[in-house]
Amino acid sequence: MVGQVSACRACGGALSVTMADLGLQPPSNAFLTPEQAQQPEKRYPLRAKVCDLCRLVQVDYDVDPQELFGNYVYFSSYSDDWLAHAGHYCEMARRRFALASHSLVVELASNDGYLLKNFVADGIPVLGIDPSDTVAAAAGKIGVPTLVEFFGESVARRLVAAGRHADLMIGNNVLAHVPKLNDFVSGIAILLKPDGTVTIEFPHLLKLLEHVEFDTIYHEHYSYLSLYALEQVFARAGLKVYDVDELSTHGGSLRIYATHAARPGIADSESLRRVRAKEEAAGIAESDTYRRFGERVLACRRSVLDFLSTAKREGASVVAYGAAAKGNTLMNYCGLTRADIPAVADRNPHKQGKLLPGSHIPVISPDELLALKPDYVLILPWNLREEITRQLDGIRAWGGRFVTPVPEIRIHA
Ligand SMILES: [Zn+2]
Repeated sequence: MVGQVSACRACGGALSVTMADLGLQPPSNAFLTPEQAQQPEKRYPLRAKVCDLCRLVQVDYDVDPQELFGNYVYFSSYSDDWLAHAGHYCEMARRRFALASHSLVVELASNDGYLLKNFVADGIPVLGIDPSDTVAAAAGKIGVPTLVEFFGESVARRLVAAGRHADLMIGNNVLAHVPKLNDFVSGIAILLKPDGTVTIEFPHLLKLLEHVEFDTIYHEHYSYLSLYALEQVFARAGLKVYDVDELSTHGGSLRIYATHAARPGIADSESLRRVRAKEEAAGIAESDTYRRFGERVLACRRSVLDFLSTAKREGASVVAYGAAAKGNTLMNYCGLTRADIPAVADRNPHKQGKLLPGSHIPVISPDELLALKPDYVLILPWNLREEITRQLDGIRAWGGRFVTPVPEIRIHA
């Protein structure tokens, strides 16, 4: 369960193709206090491998989920765009699935209840399931009942035994975080009503490949999902995907709609056929597609290091923004420290005053960043560039510029 993974976590196939080898890295959410930074830090191999049979991309070294998620400091409610995204989803789902006071909506990895609270406001019963007791407590305070568990077959059976069945199940950006993929999806099949739907959002592997988003590879993400690999996982659990939305979130995501395979009268949608064809055209089933990715990752690292050494030579200051997991993969893969980047700003007060894992770069507030008057702000969560550019518009007063690192360094006008 923990440690080296020798076979595909979905189908048991061999993992002979390496897509990216990012070296030894600490868990990307293991923020440190200045005192903890004096102690040795745990680091684990971070490699993305590809299954020979089902083409599921996955890390081949599992870190204990308790170590990764036990003290999870991420609260979803801190991103304005994401809150709006959740609100629009709930409005769509309420209408499309005719949800009402007799329905039950279950969200897996419900965090602090930021999404389910929209249904609560409409009088629709909800249940959140999340392994973190701190976020569950926050959810409880805003009226979102939350079970503190890692979801899987046994939790689903317990709920069904207690007379609970879901009309709608939601899993946003959770599937990648699940080491036992088959157990998780089987749990969905158990808890879902015969005519229920589950919607699952996940960053699309196709976008990761196209835009060299290797910085979204970290230990908390056990797998990297394509529709191609996921349809096989769902079929194994007796579920079928029938529709899909292409979303712009997290650099390009899919939202799939699935139901019981035995449910009559459900046909594949036009967009499902379109995304299948797109993946096939991109070579999702071919190993060369994944091998080429590794070369582009090396080129990205070279561009980041070139940018920083040029800035240093010219006496220009560089401060980073966004103490997110993806920033940590990039910083540690590039071997950066506070000698390269003196600070990283983040709006989340739980992170301020701490140090990033591995690189030990201190986290400051956005106001502190502005006070430093940096020449460049390196935006680590590049998918939130527009939002961050709006927040930090003040840097233009002294000619400061925004920079994004992936697929290679780009200085924005
Ligand atoms: Zn496989």
